[in-house]
Amino acid sequence: MDTIEKLKILSEDSRYDLACACGTSKDEHRKRGLEGKWLYPVTLPNGGYSILLKTLLSNACSNDCGYCPLRSGTDVRRCTLQPEEVANIFMEYLRRKKVFGLFLSSGVIGNPDNTMDRINAVARILRYKHNYRGYIHLKIIPGASEAAIEDSFSVASAVSLNIETPGKERFDLLSSKKDYMNDIIRPMKFMSGLREQGGRAEKVKCTTQFIVGASDETDSEIIEYMSGIYNKLKFNRVYFSAYQKGLGNPAIPGEKISPQIPESIFMREHRLYQVDFLMRRYGFKTGDIILNSSGNLSIDKDPKQLWADNHPEFYPVRINKADRETLLRVPGIGPETASRILKARREHRITRLEYLGIRGKRLEKVKGYVILE
Ligand code: SF4
Repeated sequence: MDTIEKLKILSEDSRYDLACACGTSKDEHRKRGLEGKWLYPVTLPNGGYSILLKTLLSNACSNDCGYCPLRSGTDVRRCTLQPEEVANIFMEYLRRKKVFGLFLSSGVIGNPDNTMDRINAVARILRYKHNYRGYIHLKIIPGASEAAIEDSFSVASAVSLNIETPGKERFDLLSSKKDYMNDIIRPMKFMSGLREQGGRAEKVKCTTQFIVGASDETDSEIIEYMSGIYNKLKFNRVYFSAYQKGLGNPAIPGEKISPQIPESIFMREHRLYQVDFLMRRYGFKTGDIILNSSGNLSIDKDPKQLWADNHPEFYPVRINKADRETLLRVPGIGPETASRILKARREHRITRLEYLGIRGKRLEKVKGYVILE
């Protein structure tokens, strides 16, 4: 197989890992570039935009994760790229200005550190042989040693280790080979500790991903873990990837309990992204997120609107007096509009919402929650 043939297979298999792309709507983080499926337009964890070469190094895997089509024993065409091959093809695309960064993940080739060595080797070739200074996102393989993780931190711009599901009990339903505490939580804590030490490691972005609906986890459990990942581990981003029925081991809960309407799993993913935004950018706490009696988010209504509907005593908000946090509780007002309001208020009294660029349906919505006196 030549490199392009391998890339076709390996980039296709990397599509379930969204931990490098921003997800605010159903499709935004799944779209791909036109030329090759391995070229991905993405929003980076720091908000910047890029096109990444996104691929696995290998789709051979010795693990048995029940949600993953690449688990050992499944009938898929396996192949592995050599570190030099990835570096060369990346540099070729870079010279043609087709890509601006690399996202590299892999199945587990034998054992975690053997895989990490190969992943890190690609980054080292790019950094030291080709003098490439741009964006490199490396996957930390579950069970990686501290030395291998430190190695990644010395060359990467961003790293990710997917938590997959909230808690050992849920995780054990998905994999018999991976040890939740030792293979996932331990390295995540180590990554967090490395950044605390400062130096280059402090600047390396850390992200993770939940696979939503594979286990029988609730949204409330995901939200609790997400809160810990942001507040205790100080990770930069949490991503969500909806488990799509039919991909995994028929024995996992996701195969049995996935909803009848496939679209609703994407809506669940979307609602979790909305909660993520509310907690990261709107000052919402876990206690502000309204869940149903089963511990899940509403599929029908967005979580901010739901909070507003349940707190009529909070409104109307006074546009000319309210602080930023209060403004952000108004449905239709986001962080940018709140900043615009605060800036405009320093200069004059706001008499019309239209002057702030709020129009159409959004204007009608905001009007129901504010006063301009
Ligand atoms: S470690 Fe698990 S999720 Fe990753 S490729 Fe292997 S089977 Fe799939």
